[in-house]
Amino acid sequence: MEKVIILGTGCAGLTAAIYSARANLAPLVFEGHEPGGQLSTTTLVENFPGFKEGIMGPELVMNMKAQAERFGARFQYADCTGLKTADGHLSIEIEGKWIDTRTLIVASGASAKWLGLDRERELVGHGLTSCATCDGAFYRNVPVCVVGGGDSACEEATFLTRFASKVYLIHRRDSLRASKIMAERTLANLKIEPIWNSAIEEYIPDAEGEMRAVKLKDLKIGTLRELEVKCVFVAIGHTPNTAAFKGLLNMDENGYLLQQDGITATNLPGVFAAGDVSDHRYRQAVTAAGQGCAASLDAERYLADLGVH
Ligand code: NAP
Repeated sequence: MEKVIILGTGCAGLTAAIYSARANLAPLVFEGHEPGGQLSTTTLVENFPGFKEGIMGPELVMNMKAQAERFGARFQYADCTGLKTADGHLSIEIEGKWIDTRTLIVASGASAKWLGLDRERELVGHGLTSCATCDGAFYRNVPVCVVGGGDSACEEATFLTRFASKVYLIHRRDSLRASKIMAERTLANLKIEPIWNSAIEEYIPDAEGEMRAVKLKDLKIGTLRELEVKCVFVAIGHTPNTAAFKGLLNMDENGYLLQQDGITATNLPGVFAAGDVSDHRYRQAVTAAGQGCAASLDAERYLADLGVH
């Protein structure tokens, strides 16, 4: 019987792991299908307090993991596929096996959304991606495009100007949703060309199955045109990773876990939620870390009430 199981190793999960490990609870942490969470695919993080010059996202999560390991957190690479309650305790399903635990901190984050167009699955990795940090360097001196108008789209577009000959920023409206500073920086970059009020209707691969162009629709006048790009970077937001908990944990209409009682508790006793899996409002590394801390403290208090130390 585990005392604390943590799902996810983004900022929320790792902070929960640091706190639970320092409380001598030897948490067992499952890395899930995106170890390190969204920070692991970002570049310079300039708004995490304590790093005057900023810190690279992957370095920040690696440091957090090492910090948690130093105090006795245990890590395993596996995904949780189910949750049940049995005989007054919780059980989670990991690769077909059930593991019992007193408490569970769900910090499984949120995953990138896609456009839902034909051939999307087969084109991922062949000129279609959601991660500029991962794939940007493959597209040197060729035109690429980014879809979206938020901070992610701006960040990706700016990053891609290091490699691509031209970066088209395709947005369905005529103004960016991104924060003012990011939007200004992006639009001031001469390598970035915004294409307003437009949406991709179709991906057009070449004979080898690699992206060659996209069919672009002007949403105001309805005209279609072909835009030559070697890669499409989709940056249109995220979906919370909560499929395994449907029907058991309360969620909003978009699948984000609902916390209750003004703390990180979910509707199921002993289950706590932290980070992007339950937060569609702030979605920042530092707020996720704060939630991870809170969830660990909430779990610790829950265990103390059960007489488990
Ligand atoms: P977001 O703010 O939700 O923006 C998503 C963008 O994609 C919006 O512009 C949206 O258009 C567009 N979009 C959504 N669905 C679409 C579709 N089906 N087709 C075409 N366009 C679509 O998501 P985000 O940019 O990933 O940012 C999420 C959070 O993380 C935000 O709080 C952001 O501040 C934060 N973030 C911060 C940083 C940083 O500080 N370094 C970096 C990245 C993200 P509409 O505008 O029309 O809705």
